[in-house]
Amino acid sequence: MSKPTQTDPIFTLTTGPVDSYPAVLRALARPVLYDYDPAFLEHYENVSRKVQKAFASRTMPVILQGEPVLGLEAAAASLLAREDVVLNLASGVYGAGFAGWAKRYCAEVVEIRVPYNEVIDPQSVADMLKARPEIRVVAVCHHDTPSGTINPVAEIGRIVHAHGALLLVDAVSSFGGMEVYPDTIHADLFVTGPNKCLGCPPGLSLLSVSDAAWAKMKANPAAPRASMLSILDWEDAWRADRPFPFTPSVAEINGLDAALDLYLDEGPENVWRRHALTAEATRAGILAAGLKLWPASEAISSPTTTAVRVPEGIDEAVLRKEARRRYGVVFSSGRGETLGKLTRIGHMGPTARPIYAPIAITALVGTLSAMGVAGLDLGAGVTAAMAVIDRDL
Ligand SMILES: *Cc1c(COP(=O)(O)O)cnc(C)c1O
Repeated sequence: MSKPTQTDPIFTLTTGPVDSYPAVLRALARPVLYDYDPAFLEHYENVSRKVQKAFASRTMPVILQGEPVLGLEAAAASLLAREDVVLNLASGVYGAGFAGWAKRYCAEVVEIRVPYNEVIDPQSVADMLKARPEIRVVAVCHHDTPSGTINPVAEIGRIVHAHGALLLVDAVSSFGGMEVYPDTIHADLFVTGPNKCLGCPPGLSLLSVSDAAWAKMKANPAAPRASMLSILDWEDAWRADRPFPFTPSVAEINGLDAALDLYLDEGPENVWRRHALTAEATRAGILAAGLKLWPASEAISSPTTTAVRVPEGIDEAVLRKEARRRYGVVFSSGRGETLGKLTRIGHMGPTARPIYAPIAITALVGTLSAMGVAGLDLGAGVTAAMAVIDRDL
């Protein structure tokens, strides 16, 4: 075995994958049962019911056996028919990126695009649907993680639903960290995963599917069957008396089970509150220290990610490397168009704890000051973060 060249970080304050909860790690070590063992079949149905409870959905969820990119690609392949016109809402790297999959499966992708530090205006969606009434499906990313911004999915959902189109939502990095229920926002295909705000390792996709989406997928002759990309094959897989299309990820299901117990026992409102408070304290500290946020306003800033603009003349990759070397703190980079322009602090699952705000601010400001950025005020940053935290105590 080769010797590791780097020690493990002390704080992984990333935007996914994130640190797993200790109870999740213990669950991953449960015995790996045969998938047709009656105990596992019953367990899989129970876990599916817990997902449904967390989704507060009328329909049973689908669990796909691969990290959430599988869920998103499967959604495009299954829901979009050859003749469909699709409206893709692009306010960031993930939202824009969905068009790449959509184009493979449908006739035309229409786009509304805004700068990546802004969010989609619901009125622009209404206007586009009026101009192009043949639009059948609208795709939106709720929290575009590489920007740390939140799209108004509930308003968009109302408009799309009223138009009679179907809504596909990427809620991978928002679900579990803030209030977002698939049925409430009129999401027909809602894709999330356990590896962000639920505090699990990557390895599964969690889908909520409306009756209208099931009907559309079943009527779509191109929707995959007997494929890793198939959603249809998994429709009844939650039932203990039905076969699996192929072997489920037994250990990941055990981890998800523990994460859902933590989420439901703590109470979703309490979980969302600590995500929001950690993000608010972080934003207050970042601003007071003399740094700038990436989102155009605090109102559209995510409660699960704080994206900080990189000061002029700083190499962002070096900044993250130095924060890790000096303090053992790991942040996330931007991606695609935001790469190099911002550094991200994750508040997801186990790291959505307010005390991580002063830790993140200290590591970030400490590193930038050491790299020669003048005029930053660490003391003011920590004081401002603590004022937000202490306000609620
Ligand atoms: C994390 C994430 C995904 C899944 O992508 P990976 O980076 O491969 O895990 C999809 N959409 C959003 C918005 C995400 O944050």
